[in-house]
Formats: sequence, C-alpha cells, structure tokens
Amino acid sequence: MEKQQIYDIIIDNLPVGFSIVDKDGIIIDFNNTAEKITGYTKKGVIGKSHLKMLHGTDDKDACPLFKHALQKHEQLIATEATIMKKNGDFIAVSVTTSPLFDSNGNFIGGIELFRDMTELKRLERERKNILSMFVHDMKNPVIAAEGFISRLLSGKAGPLSETQKNYLELVKEELDGLQGLITDFLEFSRFEATECKPVLGPFNMEASMRKHIEIAKVEAEKKNIAINFETCEAEAVTNADAMLISRVITNLLDNAIKYTNPGGAVTVRLDERSEDILVQVTDTGIGIPEEHLPYIFDAFYRGKRDLKGSGLGLSIAKTIVEAHGGRIWVESIPGKGSTFSFTLPKK
Ligand code: ADP
Repeated sequence: MEKQQIYDIIIDNLPVGFSIVDKDGIIIDFNNTAEKITGYTKKGVIGKSHLKMLHGTDDKDACPLFKHALQKHEQLIATEATIMKKNGDFIAVSVTTSPLFDSNGNFIGGIELFRDMTELKRLERERKNILSMFVHDMKNPVIAAEGFISRLLSGKAGPLSETQKNYLELVKEELDGLQGLITDFLEFSRFEATECKPVLGPFNMEASMRKHIEIAKVEAEKKNIAINFETCEAEAVTNADAMLISRVITNLLDNAIKYTNPGGAVTVRLDERSEDILVQVTDTGIGIPEEHLPYIFDAFYRGKRDLKGSGLGLSIAKTIVEAHGGRIWVESIPGKGSTFSFTLPKK
C-alpha cells in the first residue's frame, strides 16, 4: 500500500474529528469523524474558511485553531470550545490544535483535532442538577433544626443545665456552618447553571460598606480584631446590583476576619478614581503562600482546611465582580497579611 493511502486510512479512522488548514485558515483536509460530528461532507468544506464553516464568524478569537496555532504558532491541548454544525446548532467540543511547519521550519498551516462533548456535557449537567436538588433539600431540615435549638436555648421548653446549654450552642454553631456551606453551594450552582446577570441600579458603595462593617464587627470583636474604614471625600455611587455586591463585601470581610489571628486588624478602603471605584480589604492575617495565589479564586479551592469554609466565597466574588465589568485580585505576604481589591466601573 502507498504511504499516502495508509495516511488517508489512518486519518479517516481516527476516533476524533480532524481538520487541516493552510496558513490562511482554508480547509485542506477533513476526516470521516469530522463529517459525522459536524454534518458537513469533506467535499463541502475543502477550499472553504475553517472559521466561517465551523464557527460561523470572522472573529478569529472564537476559534482556538486561529487564535493559537495560526496567529501565535502555539499548541493547545484539550481546550473546551464550541463549533457550529451544518444545521446551525452549536456544540461543545474538546479541541487540540497545533501549528504545522515544513521540513525547513516554514509555517504552513495548522491542524485541529476535536471531540464531541455533547453527551458528556449532558451527563455533567444532570449530575450537577441532582446535586443542587439534594443540597437544596438539605436546607429546610437544617433551618428547622436551628429553629428548635434556638427555642431550647431561649428556655421556652423548660430550664437547661449549663452543660446542656453548652452542647446546644455547639450544635447551633455547627448548623450555622452547614447553612453557610449550603448557601454558598446553591449560589455557586445558580451562577454555573445560568450566567450571573446583575440587576443594575444606583448603588451607594460607602453606605453599603459601612453597613457591612458594622455587621462584621460582631465576629471581629469576638477575636479582638479592629476594623478601620478609610473612605474618600466624594460619595462613591455607581450602577450595581446591591444584593450581589453586598455578597462580595461580606465574603471579603468574613475571610479577612477568619484568616486573621486574634488581636490583628482589618482595614477597608474605598477610593473613587476617574474610571472606577476601588475597594480594598487589607488584613494583618496569616497571608497566602505564593503557590496558592493562582488558584484561590477557583471554585472549591481551599488553602487552609483546618478552618471552616466551602472554598466558594472568592469564586462567587469573582463571578459577581466580573459580571459587573470589574476586576478582583489579591496581594499577599505569608505571615504578614493580604489585600483583596476589586473595582467597579463607574458607568
Ligand atoms: P473558604 O471558604 O475556604 O474561605 P474562599 O473561596 O473564600 O473559601 O477562599 C479560598 C481560599 O483563599 C481560602 O481557603 C484561604 O486559603 C484563602 N484566603 C481567602 N481569603 C484569605 C485571607 N484574607 N487571608 C488568607 N487567606 C485567604
């Protein structure tokens, strides 16, 4: 058998879709699996633009093959992307791309391998839905149990001994923690299932921060942590979703108190700049080791497992800030403390 024939057989029998393009992104080969995934025929796509056929756009950033292999000459392994089928449906695919060079090292085009992820995505969605329903159903028994414990503690069901009171207070604390985990998880699932869409309205950042600092002081005082507020002259008003931004401020303040040892301090700053509003929460706490920094905004990532938490607070904060067109970041020195900052555009 000729080398070319063997090559064609291998390419056609690959269990992944396969598209080769020249350096302008014009398709020069397309295998059987690619035909099955997309609904196109090889004849129908050869000589046409990969971008137009498989993404239905001229935007080069929409296609990993263009963005990485053709423009930057770099490889990309198993990245999630979407492609458009012949019938106009978009499907999720896992894409691997690479630039192609001839034997003299001249750039001649690129190759894309893609795997249909539709079924995998459906199963993942189903699994997440079941988990969310399960966690949601845990909420009511926890609230009911907390209610009864509060009644017992208030003495409404008769007098309690000191030991009984202490035990019930411990149970209540654990249930509070569980309720926090449930709330974080449900909020995270909601953002994952549907895009986080803030309902914008006039929002007075300073007033909101003052309110949250007062609430946070209750926990801070238990640890003898002082909270200072430094604010700008001007009244920092922006367009934002009050409920969602409250969640960001609460998460940052809660963390600052949680990860600061007794006797430390938390400083909250509000600054109005020309384009945006800057909020900073600085603590004198344990800090974050450099190797954790790239991951702390990822869902479920937890640096310190001996303290209670869900690993979702910062991921939720990031989703909310970015949905408002802002940015969130951290600077930290282990053993000295951390500063979490976020911006919200003024317009
Ligand atoms: P958690 O529920 O674990 O606090 P978060 O998403 O809020 O989850 O934070 C993720 C991780 O980032 C934490 O587990 C902790 O390691 C680190 N972290 C967050 N805030 C601070 C802080 N102010 N000081 C030190 N570490 C922090």
